[in-house]
Order: sequence, then C-alpha cells, then structure tokens
Amino acid sequence: MATNPYAWLKQSLETIHRADWYRSVQTIESQAGPVVRLAGREVLNFASNDYLGLTSDDRLIQAAIAATQKFGTGSTGSRLITGHRELHRQLELAIAALKQTEDALVFSSGYLANLGAIATLVGKRDLILSDQYNHSSLKNGAILSGATVVDYAHCDVADLSTKLTQQRDRYRRCLILTDSVFSMDGDLCPLPELLAIATEFEAMLLVDEAHATGVMGATGAGCVEHFGCTGHPLIQIGTLSKALGSLGGYVAGSATLIDFLRNRAPTWIYTTGLSPADTAAASAAIAIVQQEPQRRAQLWQNVAHLQQLIAESWSDAPIAFELKPLPSASPILCFQVPDAATVLQIGQKLKQAGIFASAIRPPTVPTSRVRITVMATHTSAHLQQLAAALSQVTT
Ligand SMILES: *Cc1c(COP(=O)(O)O)cnc(C)c1O
Repeated sequence: MATNPYAWLKQSLETIHRADWYRSVQTIESQAGPVVRLAGREVLNFASNDYLGLTSDDRLIQAAIAATQKFGTGSTGSRLITGHRELHRQLELAIAALKQTEDALVFSSGYLANLGAIATLVGKRDLILSDQYNHSSLKNGAILSGATVVDYAHCDVADLSTKLTQQRDRYRRCLILTDSVFSMDGDLCPLPELLAIATEFEAMLLVDEAHATGVMGATGAGCVEHFGCTGHPLIQIGTLSKALGSLGGYVAGSATLIDFLRNRAPTWIYTTGLSPADTAAASAAIAIVQQEPQRRAQLWQNVAHLQQLIAESWSDAPIAFELKPLPSASPILCFQVPDAATVLQIGQKLKQAGIFASAIRPPTVPTSRVRITVMATHTSAHLQQLAAALSQVTT
C-alpha cells in the first residue's frame, strides 16, 4: 500500500517539540517602539532591531506615504525592467555617501544581498573562510556559491590564518565572510586584523554590517568606520530593516564591484525592486542618522546605563542558576542559559514581569540564550525595570 509522502512532516514537528525547539509567531498589536502591546498587554520591548526608534518616526511614515501616493504600492517589476525609480538611485547614493564607498546597490532584503553577492563573487574553483557564528544569510550564500566552505573559530584570526596557509594555494579566488556586530552575541569582529589577513592571502573580505549601520561609528556608518577602516578594499553588506527602520538590503563598495553585481547577481536581477514606500522611508532614515547624532549618543548612553544597572543587581543577588552574560560591545546583550527549556521558562517569567526579550535557541545558536536589544528611545525607568526583572528570574 502506498504511504503518504507528507507523513514525515508531522513526525519531524514532533521531534522539534520534544527538543523544545518549536517556534511560533507572537502578535504585536501596536505601533513599533520601546513599549508595545503583545497579546493584549503592554510590555517593554527589548526584542526589536529598531535601535534608533526610527520605525515609528513621523518623517519615515510621511516619506512612505508620499512615495506611495506618487508611485503606487509596488515597483511592478525587476529593477532592470520596470522596477526602477529615481528614488532607488537616490537611496543608493545616500548609502554610498554614508559608507564613503564609490557606489551601492539596494536589494529587496539583507538576506538577498548576502546570497546574491556571495554566489556572484565566488564559485566551484574558489574558497570561502567563514566565522563559525556568522548569520544564516552568509552561511547559505556560501553554500549557494558552490565554493569550498571552511569555518574558522569565532573571531579567531590565528585559526583563520592557519587555515588559509594550509588551503589558499589550492583555490582560484578566496572570500572571507564575517558579521561585523555578531547578531546573536553582540561582540565585534576583529576587522583591522581580518583586513591584514585578507591582504596577505590575496582574499576578498565581505563584512555584514546589519546590526552596525546607524549604530556604530562616529557618523553611524558602521563598524568599518568604528575601526578606522573606511576606504579599505571591502565588500560591505547591510540591511535597511534594523536601525534604518524600513525593509531591504544593500551592498556597498567599489564602482566596479557594484557594476558587476548589477550584471550578475541573480537575487537582484530576477526579483522585484523594492517598493516606493520602503525606499523612501530608508532614505529618510539615512538623513536622520546623519543629521541627528544625538540619537546614537542616547543609544550608547542607554547601553552603558543598562550594563551598570545589571552589574549592580548581579553583585548583590545570589544567582540560583546560571544566566551568564556573553561579551558584548554593542546594544545586543546576551545571557547564556543551560538549555532550551530553561530559556523558554525565563522568557515566560520576563513576559509576566512586563518585559519582552528574545529566547534564542538552537539551531539559531549553539547554546540557548536570552537576548536583549537596547533602543535609543528606552527611558531610564525602562532600563531599571529590565534590570530588576532580570535579577528576579535569577534568584
Ligand atoms: C538581519 C540580518 C540579515 C538579514 O537582513 P534582512 O534585511 O532582515 O533580510 C543579514 N545579516 C545579518 C547579520 C542580520 O542580522
């Protein structure tokens, strides 16, 4: 008798449940911001990527409305056919100006920017070296490219150098991939050292600034600026959907690189251009990032304040089970927890205390953790409430 070819789906889901890896969506019922309504109750939002609070900024909203009224809701086609408006080019030039690169190219998401750039730059005869904690889009871009992929230990330049010494000669081109701010850890890649290694081994270096754009560096250009590496030969990727409060992604770099991607990157050529609303909102956000450095200053002040509050409450609270802070140099603060079931319990307890924080589990990360993201628009009272709630779940 024939068996149902879909029967395995239910069995797989049961396995996911048993491991406490099951995921489901949570509905936000209010506008984005530091306080949101989640399933009928107000909670402090420490789970979003809206670092500067721009998603609910009226200037972004008005820019999106005006662009929609002028051009309609969609772009109607791929950028090379009917999907290109002057808005897209203005946004690309604004990104290039922020990053101080020759040019930039806007994709429909950061994920697609990574898939497209990586798969276009290397192929079967080439080698990719990838930080073991890189974002899913870098890992899947590497697989899609068909290149040989070798992971190096997290931020370990000695391991990277050893692996390149052993393998570089056997391949044509070489590409090193790294997050700049690691999205599930909050620490930074050693960018100057990576650049030196890339030069030594004649390798391209792609750095994903998704969590750094608008946040890191004096003008908000990202970790490249933070580390004083502006102008170095790099492929910079980023998203319009985190600090920039919109949707979409980009690649920034040399004019030749961008021209090549426009001619070869399948995830740019064969997909519909970004909507007028998203494009206009992102442009408005970049202008604010450049004109209002006080937002970034407030964000960093909040990060320092929260770290101080946590250190204080940690020092006088007995810790019943491990909630181990991971090293961070960004608005992403993570606390490692023994296992997936425990992190879910902590997430629930925090929610009962009015705190929305992410419980991150495998396979997203190797070890379960509570992940907190700080916003420029959190108040001192918000941060105090979080620190108090965290110390309660640990006692
Ligand atoms: C969020 C994220 C992406 C994907 O960006 P989207 O625009 O959301 O697709 C890529 N890389 C990193 C490191 C990210 O954190």
